[in-house]
Amino acid sequence: MKRVYNFSAGPAVLPEEVLKEAADEMLDYKGSGMSVMEMSHRSKVYDNIIKEAEADLRELMNIPDNYKVLFLQGGASQFFAEVPMNMMKNKKAGYILTGQWAKKAFQEAKIYGEAVELASSADKTFSYIPDCSDLPITDDMDYVYICENNTIYGTKFHELPDTKGKDLVADVSSCFLSEPVDVSKYAVIYGGVQKNVGPAGCVIAIIREDLITDDVLPGTPTMLKWKTQADADSLYNTPPCYTIYICGKVFKWLKKMGGLEAMKALNEKKAKILYDYLDESKLFKGTVEKSSRSLMNVPFVTGNEELDAKFVKEAKEAGFENLKGHRTVGGMRASIYNAMPIEGVEALVKFMKEFESKNL
Ligand SMILES: *Cc1c(COP(=O)(O)O)cnc(C)c1O
Repeated sequence: MKRVYNFSAGPAVLPEEVLKEAADEMLDYKGSGMSVMEMSHRSKVYDNIIKEAEADLRELMNIPDNYKVLFLQGGASQFFAEVPMNMMKNKKAGYILTGQWAKKAFQEAKIYGEAVELASSADKTFSYIPDCSDLPITDDMDYVYICENNTIYGTKFHELPDTKGKDLVADVSSCFLSEPVDVSKYAVIYGGVQKNVGPAGCVIAIIREDLITDDVLPGTPTMLKWKTQADADSLYNTPPCYTIYICGKVFKWLKKMGGLEAMKALNEKKAKILYDYLDESKLFKGTVEKSSRSLMNVPFVTGNEELDAKFVKEAKEAGFENLKGHRTVGGMRASIYNAMPIEGVEALVKFMKEFESKNL
């Protein structure tokens, strides 16, 4: 068996320890005589899995009691619609456009009401986070929306926008659990788990309780109403059982690693190795403004498309997978999520240095 260094943006690398544990439990989960894939979501044994996952997540993120944690399906993309359906009482909201995922959420919101562009970094191919200290937020807006870490472009909000008292909704798909957050600063934090947490199939949403009501837009499907899911503790219908089980294991792994403070320190260390090299390299360069750099997704280019392709090909042959940039931006991108070991980043930089010396 040979494991590669997998720099995929998502679905992405998972902690090896978690995969091994899941393998060990595949045929007989803790004496139940069956796999977690085979058991009823109404069983006692599964109830413990989902309850423990929630409790561990609450502990990791220090989630206040007045926030609900929901395990949902439909991906982050479906949640783009759930936000306006559940929150657009005045049919108006502000969006900060920092990349494709923010734009998609913005387009989706327009189906339900007036979505206003508050700021954008489209002028420079989303290579920076715009100044959000004095946004044109009006009193009638129901919320302000951000995509906190921009997976495709490799930018991150290092400071939250001044929402002028409005509720903040954040898509944290690609920075979930990468560092500590103050949950109380948000109304809603959500993300698809397939980037930094677990296998595809689940969205985790952390929602302030007062936003979970029957007062939703007319026509909102039962399943997409947060109250339906909250009242049933995410078990209104069959949840993505196995994905939640793996997420639970990742939460335990994170606790063992020292929690989110420790992960932040490790992620900073990993990112620094790569960014320091990009800053000194004569061949490769990062594409993001320094102050907006993401700890999780690191895009870079040589400035020559043929050389980019050659790099991706040779890297793959050397055991570094999925370094090709997103199809809309080209170049390269290394996603270095929680589960990417520091050795993987060190080995990548070593390989890049060798490539540079041969190709400069
Ligand atoms: C991947 C991604 C999405 C889309 O996720 P799906 O679960 O595939 O719908 C949305 N937002 C961000 C920030 C992402 O990285």
